[in-house]
Amino acid sequence: MEPIHIIGGGMAGSEAAWQAVQLGVPVVIHEMRPKKGTFAHRTGDFAEMVCSNSFRSDDHEQNAVGLLHWEMRAAQGLILEAATAHRLPAGGALAVDRDPFAAYVTAKLKSHPLVSVSYEEVTELPTEGHWIVATGPLTSGALAESIRAATGAESLAFFDAIAPIVYAESVDMSVAWMQSRYDKGETIEEQTAYMNCPMDRDEYNAFIDALLAAEKTEFHEGETAGYFDGCLPIEVMAERGRETLRFGPMKPVGLTNPHSDKKPYAVVQLRRDNKLGTLYNIVGFQTKMKYGAQTTVLKMIPGLHEASFARLGGIHRNTFINSPTLLDHQMRLKSRPNIRFAGQITGVEGYVESAAMGLVAGRMAAAELLGRELPPPPRETAMGALIAHITGDAEAKTFQPMNVNFGLFPPIEARGGRKGRHDRYKAYTDRAKEAFAAWL
Ligand code: FAD
Repeated sequence: MEPIHIIGGGMAGSEAAWQAVQLGVPVVIHEMRPKKGTFAHRTGDFAEMVCSNSFRSDDHEQNAVGLLHWEMRAAQGLILEAATAHRLPAGGALAVDRDPFAAYVTAKLKSHPLVSVSYEEVTELPTEGHWIVATGPLTSGALAESIRAATGAESLAFFDAIAPIVYAESVDMSVAWMQSRYDKGETIEEQTAYMNCPMDRDEYNAFIDALLAAEKTEFHEGETAGYFDGCLPIEVMAERGRETLRFGPMKPVGLTNPHSDKKPYAVVQLRRDNKLGTLYNIVGFQTKMKYGAQTTVLKMIPGLHEASFARLGGIHRNTFINSPTLLDHQMRLKSRPNIRFAGQITGVEGYVESAAMGLVAGRMAAAELLGRELPPPPRETAMGALIAHITGDAEAKTFQPMNVNFGLFPPIEARGGRKGRHDRYKAYTDRAKEAFAAWL
């Protein structure tokens, strides 16, 4: 049988390979390490964890990433099998002994009779055969150029610039209000495109002070090559002058606060981030503030005092494609359906999410070679919610990498309060498990 060629033996490529060979379909893994390295990888092993050694929460009843673990275990995923075998004590988190973990994944794949490995960099998008591109955030330059040539300059990013994303339900609408600047837009969708949080002069000044004082993360060595200018972190804008933000992303013009007659001194805008309307990103607030500092500083914004964040902001070296415009629901490049994408390059973020996308892409590619079409997991599941997001639900124009969170799931009505949230998250995960089992 024809093999599936997988470019990249990282989190996604390793899982994709494992899933395909479980279905009896041979694979060739093309991995450039150790011949050609990246600034973050240290070894030639598959599935190397480049930074933290955590797969985050393992709580599959109350946490979306824990639910993703559950689904990957249910699908006999190699990455979760290896992580569980090399688990370190870390409370409710799944922390992993990284070197034996990667060695386990490497040995399992290399000893499988249907797996072959080619230790070479792939420099061009292939035209023939069945391929999965899983080259991750540090895709080599030559291949990235080839992807760019095939998909268009606008469709491939080399950095992410992530503004924090807030759960819509956690915004205090007795302070904030919905309005597009200058009341543009007639449909309900357009009228709910923006939420606005007003600040008076004192609140603005206190916010700028906190922003300037907040702890920031530094770029890794070698990470800033080609750093873009058009997407400055908010704290850098604030450093350029106290009023810069008030004349930039926080300008108070074209907006009327229905809760007060006083004209706001500055306005923080939140833009709808998904079709469901459950998530809003804070416009222009990409930041290198450390996570702890971000929550403290952002909660100073009126209307966000009690906000819950689906994801915090960041700026990283990160190669990713504009999946909402480029990929179909089978994770295939619409213009070249012999090529699938998987992992972080599709615009998901994190070890677990990347491996999960590999899991689905591997199964889909294998099914195709076996003459079947495997539908994506239902969108009530963690895997299905992520795929639905990257292949259609996310706003293509402002697409930035996303990790799994309950805001991506079709909503279940809130009952309010801590108890209400506990019950609702349990309802999300119960519904997901049932749907995932049926899909399997
Ligand atoms: P990778 O795991 O990076 O695998 C891609 C593979 O493709 C690599 O082995 C690479 O060598 C290979 N490759 C690239 N180009 C080619 C080519 N042309 N030919 C052949 N092989 C190629 N996520 C977290 O969850 N927690 C963290 O703490 C974290 N920290 C990070 C820190 C840094 C500096 C970076 C860059 C990323 C970090 N991430 C983190 C994101 C993390 O990299 C991904 O979540 C995950 O590794 C992505 O999996 P992947 O399979 O898509 O890519």
